[in-house]
Amino acid sequence: MKQLVAAGLLLSLNGAHAATQTVDCGRLLDVKSGTWRERVSIVIEDGTVKSVGPMASTPAPGRIDLSAKSCLPGLIDMHVHLTSETQPVVDAYRDRLTADPADLAYRSVKYAERTLMAGFTTVRDLGAEQALNVSLKRAIAAGAIPGPRMFTAGKSIATAGGHADPTNNLSHYLSHAIGTPGPAEGVINSPDEGRQAVRERYKEGADLIKITATGGVLSQAASGQNSQYTEDELKAIVSTAKDYGFRVAAHAHGAEGLKRALRAGVDSIEHGTLMDDDSVALFKKTGGWYVPTISAGRYVADKAKDPNYYSALVRPKAAAIGPQLQATFARAYKAGVKIAFGTDAGVFPHGENAKEFGYMVEAGMTPIDAIRAATIHAATLLDQPKRLGMLEPGFAGDIVAVDGDPLRDIKLLEQVKFVMKEGVVYKNL
Ligand SMILES: [Zn+2]
Repeated sequence: MKQLVAAGLLLSLNGAHAATQTVDCGRLLDVKSGTWRERVSIVIEDGTVKSVGPMASTPAPGRIDLSAKSCLPGLIDMHVHLTSETQPVVDAYRDRLTADPADLAYRSVKYAERTLMAGFTTVRDLGAEQALNVSLKRAIAAGAIPGPRMFTAGKSIATAGGHADPTNNLSHYLSHAIGTPGPAEGVINSPDEGRQAVRERYKEGADLIKITATGGVLSQAASGQNSQYTEDELKAIVSTAKDYGFRVAAHAHGAEGLKRALRAGVDSIEHGTLMDDDSVALFKKTGGWYVPTISAGRYVADKAKDPNYYSALVRPKAAAIGPQLQATFARAYKAGVKIAFGTDAGVFPHGENAKEFGYMVEAGMTPIDAIRAATIHAATLLDQPKRLGMLEPGFAGDIVAVDGDPLRDIKLLEQVKFVMKEGVVYKNL
C-alpha cells in the first residue's frame, strides 16, 4: 500500500491497495525499433510490468486512461547533483560557512521532487558532500519523499586541490581549522589512498564511483582542464571499484586526463569537452560511454556574462569551456561514440533536465537517438538493461506520457503530463 501524493493531490488507483494497474496508452514508443505501437495496455503488478498488449475494447475498471497521449519509458538522467543547486557565489560562500548538512538535505527534497515531476524516474547522482545523496536515496526508496530512483556515487573522489576537494581556496585559517581531507572525505594522493577511497564509498553506501580526472569549471581553482591523477592512481581506483561491483564515472574536460581515465578502464566520461581525435578512437577501443551535459555548458556560459554570479576564478573557465560542449557532442555523435543522456542538473536548476534533448537534437542527433540515450543506453551504463529503459514484462513500471509526438517535436518532452514510477502515479494532468 502506497500513498500517492502529487502536487498536493491524493490520487487513488483501484482504491488504496492497487497491486495491479492497467495503463491504457494511445500509443507507446518502442525505443529499440523507434516505432510507435498504437493503442496499447500496460499491466503493472506490484510495480513491475506484467504485460504489454493491445488495448481492450472494454476498458478494465480502474484503468488509467492515457488514450489521448503518447507513452514512453521513464526517462533517465545519468548526471545530476540532487543535493545542491546553482546560486550566486556570495550565497555559495555563505553556505560554506553557515549551512549544516541538514539544511542542505531539506533543500534537496524539492530538487528530487522537481526532477521526478519532469519525467525523470531514475537518476545517477555523481557527487555530494557528506554522502547526502546516499541519505536522499534512502529517503526516496523508503517512500518518505517523492523523487527519482537514485544510483549514487556518494562523495566524488579528487586529488588535493582537485575538482572535488572540498577545501579549495579557503583561507589558511579555515584550512588549518578543517584539516587536510583524506580518502574518507574523497581526497587521495596515491594509489593506496585511491583504493581506500573506493572502500570508503562502499562503506558510505554508494552504488558507483565518481572521480574528477581533470580540473572543472565550478571548483575554486585555476584550471578547468588539467590532468589531476597519475595513471597509477586511476588504475588503482578502477581495479578496486571492480572488486566491489562498482562502475566508474570520470569527470574530464582536458583530453590528456580524459585519455588516462579511459585507458585505466572507466565506464563513462562526463563532459569530455576538449576531446581530440585520439580520445574518440580510445572511446571506441575501450567501449567507454560519453555523457555530454550540454545543458550545464550552456548554463554556465550564460551565467559567466554576469560579473557577480561566479567568482573571479570560475568566471573565465565558465566562459571558455561552457560554449564548447555542444560542438564536442556533435562531433562525438557523428563519430559513433556511445552516448548516454546526462545534464549535470544542479549546475542549473533541477527539473529542467529535458532541455538537454533539444540541445542534442539541435546538434544533429535524431530524436529517437536522444530518447534512446535517456532510456536503453542509460540503463545499459547503469548495468540495469533488464529492469530499466524499456516497457516490457519484467521491467520497472516507470511510465511517462506527453501530448503529441516527441519524435517530431522533441521539446514536447519538456512538458511531461504523466509520471508513474514503479507503479505509483506522481503526476497525471
Ligand atoms: Zn557534475
